[in-house]
Amino acid sequence: MSKAPIKTTGTATQKPARPAKRPGRPKGAATQTLPTADVQLSRCRKCDSTARTKYLRTTETAHTGQLPNGQPYTHIVRRWTTCSDCGQARVDLTHENRV
Ligand SMILES: [Zn+2]
Repeated sequence: MSKAPIKTTGTATQKPARPAKRPGRPKGAATQTLPTADVQLSRCRKCDSTARTKYLRTTETAHTGQLPNGQPYTHIVRRWTTCSDCGQARVDLTHENRV
């Protein structure tokens, strides 16, 4: 009695559906301390409110320097806005350090 070779149909090596990639730190990756930025909310100089309309215009100037507190910066950014409480217009000036 001779055995006929077994015919295989389909593939048994099909991978099961993987769960969606989870956000955040991968398993086993070390926790690292990343640099943080100190940001102060801009305030209205008339009524001291921090509420504002969305920025109307933004300009940035590439300028390298150091703030009085020692923080280095590479760009000076100006953002035009208006106070939501009293309507006072202002320009928010920020110094950003970009890598
Ligand atoms: Zn105001």
